[in-house]
Amino acid sequence: KEKLSDRINSMATSQTLAMAAKARELKAEGKDIIGLSLGEPDFNTPDFIKDAAIQAINDNYNSYTPVDGYVELKDAIIEKFKRDNDLTYNRSQIVVSTGAKQSLANVAMVVLNPGDEVLLPCPYWVSYAEIVKLAEGVPVEVPTSVETNFKITPEQLEDAITPKTKMIWYSSPCNPSGMVYSKEELRALADVLKKYPDIVVVSDEIYEHINFVGEHASMAQFEDMYDRTVTVNGVSKAFAMTGWRIGYIGAPEYIARACNKMQGQITSGANCIAQRAVITALEAPVSKISHMIDTFKSRRKLIIDLLNEIDGFVTTEPEGAFYVFPNISAFFGKTIDGYKIENAGDFSMFLLEKANVATVTGEAFGNPDCIRISYAASEDQIEEAIKRIKEVLS
Ligand code: PLP
Repeated sequence: KEKLSDRINSMATSQTLAMAAKARELKAEGKDIIGLSLGEPDFNTPDFIKDAAIQAINDNYNSYTPVDGYVELKDAIIEKFKRDNDLTYNRSQIVVSTGAKQSLANVAMVVLNPGDEVLLPCPYWVSYAEIVKLAEGVPVEVPTSVETNFKITPEQLEDAITPKTKMIWYSSPCNPSGMVYSKEELRALADVLKKYPDIVVVSDEIYEHINFVGEHASMAQFEDMYDRTVTVNGVSKAFAMTGWRIGYIGAPEYIARACNKMQGQITSGANCIAQRAVITALEAPVSKISHMIDTFKSRRKLIIDLLNEIDGFVTTEPEGAFYVFPNISAFFGKTIDGYKIENAGDFSMFLLEKANVATVTGEAFGNPDCIRISYAASEDQIEEAIKRIKEVLS
């Protein structure tokens, strides 16, 4: 008998990673799979960042780093927050971690007590709910739909709050919907939160630079929210550095201190070479990465235009990140090519097996009527994938 904890047995496997594994398996069998399931830029890390890493190796950066990150990196993060977000943090408010994923896990572990509720506006990034549960919190989904552009309203927020609400977590630009909260929309949510001073906000801004509609807004920019907002960011997406594993927070000092303590017992400081390289990445002007953002923008147009030609796909225009999140519930109850489709999971599996295109079911993100399609792929791959999808559906 396996001797595992209830903790791990009750945890769901990451569905995005599971889909990627399944796609890899089919590829290994010789199938020509187009992978549109992963949230990973298909670019190489820019050379100026790679050079900084090579330099760091040659300069013998090989020892344990401070648990919360090199001081020079923290200073680069402080400058970045000032430059891009008009946010002022000092060193004791910054913690560098092994990816934004660890940043989020730290925050959950240090803020939540068993039974504390965490509001998750749907759709939310897959790992939020599982991280919250691991910290013995209770994820509370706040549903939205394609009709409201996948954003929650102040009324919905107010209705979802209970005496047990401890936090609200969201990403903007959002993975998976691509929606972006404007400053006015955030202010309206802040006006509700103002009445509940004990609620901590986790603002996940990892897609900040991949924004096609203009200004990025941060919750912590509001003076009355600053003291209880944790701003999460990282280099995986905008700098094409997913494997380097560097994320960070700007937070109220007591939360940063607690995250430092937690990380000190679990992982220690993040990788030394990656940290040195990220100093260079963050100090560079944003123009150094704009070619990738421009490419995402033209792919976005391409995929939306193509999806709009398929009957049964209802798609909002994503404002940021690199995903579309179409509602495909029109196909539920249908049998296509002998394949019975009851839900988004079936639909996603149908696309994988019949069209050889990997996507992710919206169930993983709390919206069971949708699927997520990543357009972090070449234009040729996007065109071919949508052509195949169209063919198997007609
Ligand atoms: N937050 C969101 C919304 C994401 O989409 C991701 C990655 O998919 C992360 C956090 C984690 O990023 P990292 O690679 O820094 O752990």
